[in-house]
Amino acid sequence: MTALTPHVLIAGAGPVGMMSALVLGRAGIHVTLYEASSGLSRDLRASTFHPPTLDMLAQYGLTAALVEQGLVARFTQQRDRTQGVIAEFDLSQLAGLTDHPFRLQCEQWKLTDLIMAQLAQMPHVSVVFNSRIESVSQTSDSVSVQTQQEDGRHSVQADYLIGADGAWSAVRTQLGIAFEGYTYPERFLVVSTPFEFADHMPQLSYVNYCSDPQEWCVLLRVPTLWRVLFPTKEDETDDQVLTDASIQARLHRLLPQPQNYTLVHRTLYKVHQRVAQKFRAGRVFLAGDAAHINNPLGGMGMNGGVHDAMNLCEKLLGVMQHGAPESSLDLYEKQRRTIAIEYINASTARNKKEIEERDPVLRQKNHDELRALAADPASSLAYLRKTSMIDALERAKALT
Ligand SMILES: Cc1cc2nc3c(=O)[nH]c(=O)nc-3n(C[C@H](O)[C@H](O)[C@H](O)COP(=O)(O)OP(=O)(O)OC[C@H]3O[C@@H](n4cnc5c(N)ncnc54)[C@H](O)[C@@H]3O)c2cc1C
Repeated sequence: MTALTPHVLIAGAGPVGMMSALVLGRAGIHVTLYEASSGLSRDLRASTFHPPTLDMLAQYGLTAALVEQGLVARFTQQRDRTQGVIAEFDLSQLAGLTDHPFRLQCEQWKLTDLIMAQLAQMPHVSVVFNSRIESVSQTSDSVSVQTQQEDGRHSVQADYLIGADGAWSAVRTQLGIAFEGYTYPERFLVVSTPFEFADHMPQLSYVNYCSDPQEWCVLLRVPTLWRVLFPTKEDETDDQVLTDASIQARLHRLLPQPQNYTLVHRTLYKVHQRVAQKFRAGRVFLAGDAAHINNPLGGMGMNGGVHDAMNLCEKLLGVMQHGAPESSLDLYEKQRRTIAIEYINASTARNKKEIEERDPVLRQKNHDELRALAADPASSLAYLRKTSMIDALERAKALT
């Protein structure tokens, strides 16, 4: 058993666990972060950072470095696969509400790499790879976890535990917390290619949501690649979806061209809309994908998880360093679970419903509404406040 006071344990070295370690570590708290894998993930998952997230990361010297490694997207587009641009939104309208009135298109692993470089300079923070948290127990004074490491099982005791161990969270399971919601029957295929779509699709921005009654898609630019996200058909098997022929056919339907597309990555994801029944159980907290998962339409999973980490760590520091009562930690669940349900889950589910709409009358209505929103400065500002998660953060703050 190890006992350092105050000492916080974190499960998972994704963006949420790493951000939590950074906030607590900067404040001088002893942190031990356990990561099941042998290193930081290089998976191509999130690629959009929203303005308020960039504001938060700037406090830790991360935003400038991310901007250097990413692409500043001033505009986002709602398109139709056959009609082209339906509505374009200009994030520079958010100037005055944020220091970063743009979306940053940048791979999420660049964030965790940058955080790791800072944590390496903090002797009171340890990141332990190849260490899977297997069980969790607690008393009114402390929390204990058992980890499986390369040299066997270990036990450690600390003041608090943050479960940022992703969608299949062992911490959540150990606490017996239900993960309420549903899983979509279709999966999402994400392929990436260096092919320059912008040379062939007029007015393409870096972030493009393309509706279609047969097969909608999302086209996202990261510095060296285009990422294209397609839904699968419910009756296609994973093997069928992932063949070269099937991926080429999908891309050629989107944009026919004489040669085959060069494919750099192809990944198939199950997609869920779920929120944990509780975000706090005594000295244990859930954050990020361990607490809520959603479809990626709108880019809110990682962003929302970073917002969880900031909210939770501020409250933990209040208790550990500034004499706030333990009961103040309940506000974390009240604020962030409400946002996960009312905002993150609701918006992403609505985004999916709209982009896949098949009824021609409803499609026309959606297009008309989007055009009207984009044409009116006050409405488009309201739309941008919502889609950039500014409204969600304000709503959370108002919950006391
Ligand atoms: C295709 C796709 C596109 C996306 N695009 C966006 C986007 O543009 N914007 C956005 O905001 N979000 C996006 N997301 C969502 C985003 O990737 C996730 O919300 C984000 O990774 C969640 O971070 P996390 O730290 O909570 O969890 P994770 O990134 O899943 O990290 C959890 C970590 O915990 C480790 N772990 C698991 N179990 C244990 C254990 N028992 N003990 C120790 N360690 C453990 C795992 O190895 C992993 O490293 C996208 C997701 C997908 C699939």
